[in-house]
Amino acid sequence: MTGHIATVAGVAVDTRHWIGGRRVASAATFTDVSPIDGSVLAEIARGTAVEADAAVAAAKAAFPAWAATSREERARLLHAIADGVEKRLEDLAIVETHDNGALLRSHRRGVMPRVAHNFRFFADWLLDLGHDDFETRGHTNHVSWDPAGPCVLITPWNAPLMLATWKVAPALAAGNTVVLKPAEWSPLTASLLADIAAAAGLPDGVLNVVQGLGAEIGDALTSHNDVRRISFTGSVPTAARIAASAAPALTPLSLELGGKSPLLVFADADLDLAVDLAVEQYDNAGQVCLAATRLLVEESVAEEFTRRFVAKASGIRQGDPRDEATGIGPNIHERQVAKIDGFVQRALASGARAVLGGGPNAELGGLYYRPTLLTDVAQDSEIVQEEVFGPVLTLQTFTNEDEAVALANDTRFGLAATVATGDRERAERVTARLVAGTVWVNCFFVRDLQAPFGGSRQSGVGREGGTWSFDFYCDLKNTVTAPTGWAGRG
Ligand code: NAD
Repeated sequence: MTGHIATVAGVAVDTRHWIGGRRVASAATFTDVSPIDGSVLAEIARGTAVEADAAVAAAKAAFPAWAATSREERARLLHAIADGVEKRLEDLAIVETHDNGALLRSHRRGVMPRVAHNFRFFADWLLDLGHDDFETRGHTNHVSWDPAGPCVLITPWNAPLMLATWKVAPALAAGNTVVLKPAEWSPLTASLLADIAAAAGLPDGVLNVVQGLGAEIGDALTSHNDVRRISFTGSVPTAARIAASAAPALTPLSLELGGKSPLLVFADADLDLAVDLAVEQYDNAGQVCLAATRLLVEESVAEEFTRRFVAKASGIRQGDPRDEATGIGPNIHERQVAKIDGFVQRALASGARAVLGGGPNAELGGLYYRPTLLTDVAQDSEIVQEEVFGPVLTLQTFTNEDEAVALANDTRFGLAATVATGDRERAERVTARLVAGTVWVNCFFVRDLQAPFGGSRQSGVGREGGTWSFDFYCDLKNTVTAPTGWAGRG
């Protein structure tokens, strides 16, 4: 590291905040470590209320001009940011992999192209956004989507830049200004995004990036009176704290939280497809909010399903996420691995059986946790009810549709659900009864940006995606105009 610049896999990353179009240092720093091998990547500016206030002030100052910028010009700038992301795709992919340990090949081929798409999609959606005027007794109703003001966007580490830009893009498209606070375990690509946005010509203060440790900077952002929207992706306890902090100012919140989603496998399913869907749940070392971590399998096929699952999952290669052949990399942090192992060991101690995995990978050590499948788990046990956020699945059986639906819905979450069945009518019956923001039938993780996305129950508040994002990031206004010469009332 030289001065404020860290070099990560040959890429220079500024470790300071980005506020009002300037790099700003803090008195203190925190250390950013790579989950691949524990090496120190950077000393990152450790922001406090001082930097939070400065960033909100910059966003507030930049807001009137940005809100008044035409939709076409905003869309043009978002496309220019997407061009910049595509130009620096390799830098972003390699830095993200070093920072959060997810597979380099998926960053290159899936995640970073999706980051660019986030900007393009919301730029284009903005240009089509509207509602036809309508009449009330000769009066014209005109609905406008007014920018709301400075937005605070707080994001997690499991898919850092993808989840950040899924908020940044619609917030900017809507004419708002932004203060982005990335997670402290993966702060680097947000800093690169600031460089890319500046190079694309985004005016100073429209996008601000602050770094810091959770509440130490977060409370000042979420309680701020000048903030008009807070969009948060992360855990339920943090969401509750943010909601309390935002309550005095009544700042509107969008909360995208955790899950404990089920995969229901009926006996009439294509069993190989069902096994593929189940094994896919180990992607990103199980650090996926939508992951279907509860396998619910019809009893008559459970033995065969388990046999094929174990055979397939045992073949996943675990190792360095930079290696093309790797299927599962490390988990993010030693605290997270201790948490994952705590869940697994407590489940084993209370009668669960590990038919696969059951602990850290002894050969690789460090943060590499073995893909794990636990059976003999009770519905009311911790391992079935709580989000582990690691490569740990449970398997339970059911004997009929009612029981399958009852088990599926019996947690405090409702983020997603997946159903594997060969019977279309069953699919319709079952999906209608599932409590979840997203339900997949015979597929997983197919996500269109125009679809509403969010969770039911404690998996979230509100929906984003397509028009729903603009609903959240805009102040909708209905203007009623009387016909010319109108002299009456009502
Ligand atoms: P987390 O709640 O610990 O942290 C998320 C972010 O909140 C980080 O940037 C953190 O610094 C910040 N933060 C922490 N305390 C804060 C406070 N008091 N005020 C303001 N900000 C604060 O979550 P995590 O461990 O980073 O992420 C994992 C969680 O995120 C899991 O529960 C996962 O399911 C969830 N998640 C949900 C989605 C979704 O779309 N529903 C997507 C990805 C992850």
